[in-house]
Formats: sequence, structure tokens, C-alpha cells
Amino acid sequence: MSFKDLKISKPILRAVAEAGYDNPTLVQEKTIPLILNKKDVIVSAQTGTGKTAAFALPILQSLLDQQDAPKKGKTIKALIVSPTRELAIQIEDNFKTYNTYTNLRSTVVYGGTSIEPQKDVLKKGVDILIATPGRLLDLHKQDIINLDYVETLVLDEADLMLDMGFIDDVRKIERLCTREKQILLFSATIPHKVEQLGNSILKTPERVEVAQNSSTSKNVAQLLYYVPKRNKIELCLHLLRNTIKGNIIIFRRTKFGVDKLEKTLLKNGYKVDSIHGDKSQTARQDALKKFKKGDVNILIATDVAARGIDITDLDAVINFDLPNVPETYVHRIGRTARAGSKGMAYSFCSADEKNYIKTIQQLIQLQLDIIEDHPYPLDPKAKPIVHKSNKTGSKHRKGRKSQASKKKKKRWY
Ligand code: AMP
Repeated sequence: MSFKDLKISKPILRAVAEAGYDNPTLVQEKTIPLILNKKDVIVSAQTGTGKTAAFALPILQSLLDQQDAPKKGKTIKALIVSPTRELAIQIEDNFKTYNTYTNLRSTVVYGGTSIEPQKDVLKKGVDILIATPGRLLDLHKQDIINLDYVETLVLDEADLMLDMGFIDDVRKIERLCTREKQILLFSATIPHKVEQLGNSILKTPERVEVAQNSSTSKNVAQLLYYVPKRNKIELCLHLLRNTIKGNIIIFRRTKFGVDKLEKTLLKNGYKVDSIHGDKSQTARQDALKKFKKGDVNILIATDVAARGIDITDLDAVINFDLPNVPETYVHRIGRTARAGSKGMAYSFCSADEKNYIKTIQQLIQLQLDIIEDHPYPLDPKAKPIVHKSNKTGSKHRKGRKSQASKKKKKRWY
């Protein structure tokens, strides 16, 4: 199938060809006709499948089709809501690429940066708005945004949106748009709460599912190192010195962990940068740029900060901390071995993480390859250290929380 068969017209076809896309991906083949037919859809697809173009192209096409309508000045006709700033920026980049030869206008708004320049662009009028929930509602409250003309609402990475606690905002945004709009819900996984949201706001949605969410690519070698928690940094340095080369993402569960590892790797002369929720937007964008350009070859990230970010050509993923949600493991290692190339996934498991390995292996229906030949083996009988719980919480927790974080109740990702 070609993009032409999907009824995409010339100005968009030209931009798509210049972007180097020869043919539509599977999710595009399945989703584009449904969107052009004005159906509501629930699409289960991960980053890397071409899911952004799967909604961006038909949205642009529908807007082009209506361009003969009297021009009253531009109104927002398509609204894309994204949970993270990076993802919002990436979606906007996609729209800009496909938009090159049309006169449709798009822009992106997100928190963490000055609101004034965003207001200026919005006042001039746009057809397509990409936004994170908080800033969108803020601008709406200030009467800068009018959602009365939204024909298509896209909720991207819906599972992450709900994980990040945006459910009330999403519902509010949905109510602020017209009733007749088309809703497109994209999510890497469809857990119960996403299903519930879909059922409550979409009208008889069509479903598209690409790639089993629980499957991991056969092209990724998945290696497991049992290691005491205190030796994980040494093991990481040992592997970086001797085994792991190329472009690497290291995942940690907390911002604190990311910062600590970054300092150690920098001290050891590695070219490293990091992304997590406490870094300024500019710092996060800079880190991504440097990694994509090859100025640094190691990126350390929390899951939430890295989710949905299109980083290709990864040689290895290191699960420095194992995720407590098994699907997250699949997301993480899905970033390597893209487009048929070989990739490596290294997982470090300490005594207290053994249960995570069990649930991951159940989900992916595969046993990871245990590597025993390394300098920091874990005593197989080692049991997790159990902190006795009492009403005031464990000592461990008390020690790690700073006064500032207690006060602000900040996000951990
Ligand atoms: P996404 O899943 O939207 O994050 O897209 C992943 C990557 O695939 C992006 O770099 C897109 O530019 C690229 N892409 C999207 N559609 C196609 C296509 N039909 N052919 C080749 N690459 C594509």
C-alpha cells in the first residue's frame, strides 16, 4: 500500500516523500482510513511504529479538504494533548514536517517556559494545537484559547497521561471541546483505566492494535545480571569499560538515582547527559539534542521523562534499576534493535528486585539470559533487606527525603 492509496493528497505526499517515508507503516495503514472516515479510534501502538504520522497525516488531510470553506481567520480545529513536554515538541516537529507545503498552521504550548510568546502565536491563529494539559487549561482560563471549533481531539500516550495523574484535566479538556468532535486515543498499552476513559468519552470507537505490547523484539539480546544493590555502579562501569559500546540509554527509577549515576559517570570521563522531571525544559531539550547529535553517547533517564521520545539507533539499553511495572521493561528495551538492527538490553537485578524479574518474564514469555561471569555476583541466597514498617515509615525512606521535597510534595520522575 502507498500513501496515495490512503487518499493523502499532493502537498502532504511531497513532504512525506522528502521525510524519506516510502510506504505507510502498519499502524498508518490501519488507522488513516478510519480517521478520514471520521471514526473515533482507540489505537494501541508504541513509539517507533509511526503512530504520530498515523494521526497527523489524516488530520492535515481533513483540514486541507475543508480549505475551500470561507476563511474566517484561523480557529483551532485539531487539538493534540500530550502528557510530556518533550513529546509535545516532537509531535509539533512532525506536524511542521508534513505541513511544509500547506498553509495550515500549527503550534505547541507546554508548561515550564514563559507563557507570553505562546500567547502571541496563539493570538495570530492556528489550525492545529499541540499541548500539555496544565498549560492548555491555563491558557483557556485566560481566554487565549477557544476550543469551540475543535473537530478532532487526540489523546496521545493516554496510559502515561493517566499514570501522571492527568485524568481530571483530560476530562475537563474533553468537555471544553464541542460535543460532535472526533476523538482519537493513542496509548502504548490499554490498561483498565484507559479502557474506562475510552468507553466514557469515545463514541463506538474502532480499535487498532499493532505489535503485541507484551512482546519484545527477537533482535534484542536480553541479559540479566544478579548484583548487590551497592555494586550496581561498579558493574555499570565495568560493563561500559569492557563490553557496552555505542549509543546507550540507562534507565533509573528516580531523579535522585539519575543524578547520582550521572555524577559518577562524568567523573569517570564518560560523555553523559540526563533527563528527568526536575530539570528545566531547556536542560532536557539540550540533553536530547546532544544525544541525538552524538555529542554525548550515554543518556540517563527516568521512565516518565523518556517515554514517547523518538530516539533511534540505540545500541544498548541498561536497566540499572528494574521497573516495578513489567510493561515498562518492554517500553524500555523497545528502544533498541529498531528497524531490524541488533540491540542489547542489560538488566541489573538486586535481591529486592527479584520479584520484578518474575513478572517481567511472565509478561514477555521469555527467560532472560543470566550472566554469572562478572565481578560482582549476588549471593543466590541473598534475601531482600526488609525494613520493618511502623507508623512513621521506614528509616530508609525518612533518610532519603529532603525537607524541600517533603514541603513541595514534588513528583518523583
Ligand atoms: P513515532 O512512532 O510516531 O514516534 O515514529 C517513529 C519514527 O518513524 C519517526 O522518526 C518517524 O519520522 C518515522 N516514520 C513515521 N512514519 C514512517 C514511514 N511511513 N516510513 C518511515 N519512517 C516513518
